Amino acid sequence: MEVIWAPWRLSYVSNVTKGKEKGCFICRAIEDDPSRDRENLLLYRGKKAIVILNRFPYNTAHLMVCPIRHTGDFLSLLPEELAEIDELLKRSIRAIKRAYNPDGFNIGLNLGKVSGGSVDTHIHYHVVPRWLGDTNFMPVTAGVKVIPQSLDETYDRLKTFWE
Ligand SMILES: [Zn+2]
Repeated sequence: MEVIWAPWRLSYVSNVTKGKEKGCFICRAIEDDPSRDRENLLLYRGKKAIVILNRFPYNTAHLMVCPIRHTGDFLSLLPEELAEIDELLKRSIRAIKRAYNPDGFNIGLNLGKVSGGSVDTHIHYHVVPRWLGDTNFMPVTAGVKVIPQSLDETYDRLKTFWE
């Protein structure tokens, strides 16, 4: 997978390095009151899995599908967890297709810190929509990246197209 240059990830990386991010952000969002789901970018709550927008996206509508149970051990995932994760991956792809009409997707799992994953304690599948040429129109302009759509707008749009 080619790397899409995403400068707003720098604040994330530096925060992690400085240890500002404490605990598991996925669990924090799940355990928070559902009335704050929009603020937490939690798009959908299932029985065994959830869908949450990536706060530091590689692309517009970059979201993550995670088991509700806090585990980093893929082999420990239960059949009912895997089944719902599969279902939510399908629903995520369907919603993003309807909302944004991408040309393709990168979907994947990073297991363990060495794989490049930022959080190795709570499994999360990345769903990253791709448009032809999207690596080309993400230029460096004095270190400022124009994000095509704010996270709030993306959240609302995906919510509208979610079934
Ligand atoms: Zn967790």
